[in-house]
Amino acid sequence: MWKFATEANGKAFIAGQWQAAASAATFPVTNPADGSVIANVPNMGAKETQDAIAAAHDAFPSWAATSSKDRAAILETWAQLLRDNAEDLGELMTAEQGKPLLEAIGEIMTSADYIDWFAEEAKHVHGETADAPSQNATVQISREPIGVVAAITPWNFPAAMVTRKVAPALAAGCPVILKPAEDTPLIALALAELAERAGLPAGVLNIVIGDRAQAAVISKTLMDSTDVEKLSFTGSTDVGKLLIGQSAKTVKKLALELGGNAPLIVLEDADVDVAVKGVLSAKFMNAGQMCVAPNRIYVHEKVYDEFAQKLTEAVKDIKVGDGLDPNTQMGPLINQKAVDKVQHQVDDAVAKGAEILCGGHVSQPGTLFFEPTVLKNATPEMEIKSQETFGPVAALFKFREEAEVITQANDTRYGLAAYVFGRDEAHAAEVAKQLQAGMVGINESMLIDEAIPFGGVKESGIGRENSHFGIEEYQEIKSTIIKKKSPHI
Ligand code: NAP
Repeated sequence: MWKFATEANGKAFIAGQWQAAASAATFPVTNPADGSVIANVPNMGAKETQDAIAAAHDAFPSWAATSSKDRAAILETWAQLLRDNAEDLGELMTAEQGKPLLEAIGEIMTSADYIDWFAEEAKHVHGETADAPSQNATVQISREPIGVVAAITPWNFPAAMVTRKVAPALAAGCPVILKPAEDTPLIALALAELAERAGLPAGVLNIVIGDRAQAAVISKTLMDSTDVEKLSFTGSTDVGKLLIGQSAKTVKKLALELGGNAPLIVLEDADVDVAVKGVLSAKFMNAGQMCVAPNRIYVHEKVYDEFAQKLTEAVKDIKVGDGLDPNTQMGPLINQKAVDKVQHQVDDAVAKGAEILCGGHVSQPGTLFFEPTVLKNATPEMEIKSQETFGPVAALFKFREEAEVITQANDTRYGLAAYVFGRDEAHAAEVAKQLQAGMVGINESMLIDEAIPFGGVKESGIGRENSHFGIEEYQEIKSTIIKKKSPHI
């Protein structure tokens, strides 16, 4: 299945070399659909992380000095290699992450689009000049690569989360040390192999792999280093806060894409069919393991029963199975912890009065599959209201007053995504304006594109990925003040 770097089995990529852990320790990567072991990867720690930092530090001057056109050419070749190998990469992703093959291949194509976008951005880095009247001087304002970047990524989009960080960093002229999630290191290694084939110089992209216990050691080594200037992290808010604390010691620039608890509001005048379609894709894609997935679905009382019935009918039709089966529309959850969390939230909701309209339990064909679930009569006392589910559970809350639902929607420390469905677009836009979120979809559930700034407010994060803001995360602004010669001298 994995046609990439057989030599990389048991090895990670540091300083342009495929390397085993110094201790020779490995850990298995398993297929969540059936628990089978796909590969063994190195279990690295502080020593290998320091080696990666040294390699990146050494590579920085020449990579930063490489012309933006040449950097862009390497990125474009890398993107093309992703497209050329999309089928194999997709199969590998399905095997280690579980998502249906079509979704996996789609993610590879999206990842290639991210790389291409930033290849273009590399060529469009502009500075400014300004007059400084009181000093008889001219000021040059330039954007410079920030330096060595640490990137830590989650397992839910194991290729897109990597390219969304690595591509803008490389485009800006910054070398990267990437620590992918324990559950999905193989795609990251395959991407590194393709980057090497694309001509990326040694040390510019380094991958350090470790299991969950080693994650804290690797990240602490990165955070303590004065040779690492920037952290770009995607993951939970809890780990994000920990990293904020650790990064304070060396005052790193931070980009944090953290957890979500998205509200989705179906207004009184909504086209119910459009809203049901929106929930189906935003909530059940990737088995609901998405930071932007609607976690709280608020439906106006006038359309609540119709919406609940239509959504339930559609959700019952979702085909659950191994992602490699072409009929599968939803794969397994990533691991046992994820299944336990989802089951706990459903049980908590039912104990507090929710009604299960469909699903609600672990399902065939394996221990990590969870039935697509719809819950009616959700209330604010339930854990599902305040905690991110990260699973295929649609919880329906009923509302009457718009002011009340806006207050409810904003009653969270998260603020990543939000959705509003209503036929009167101007009115829906008024509601959207009052929602505290980095991204709002109006009659639209697809919020992600390389051209759209991605990120959250409140405890959902700091900074933006994608768009022209994405590359700015990896740049510092430098002001050079040039004193003009006095005409009298
Ligand atoms: P996570 O547990 O925070 O893990 C994310 C990354 O941090 C992984 O590489 C993980 O390594 C590492 N990590 C875990 N504990 C660490 C520690 N103590 N010190 C340093 N690093 C540590 O999150 P997850 O469960 O993988 O992902 C789900 C979360 O990510 C959800 O909250 C979701 O909303 C969020 N997310 C946000 C976005 C966004 O763009 N805002 C996108 C996707 C996901 P291990 O895998 O080895 O534990």
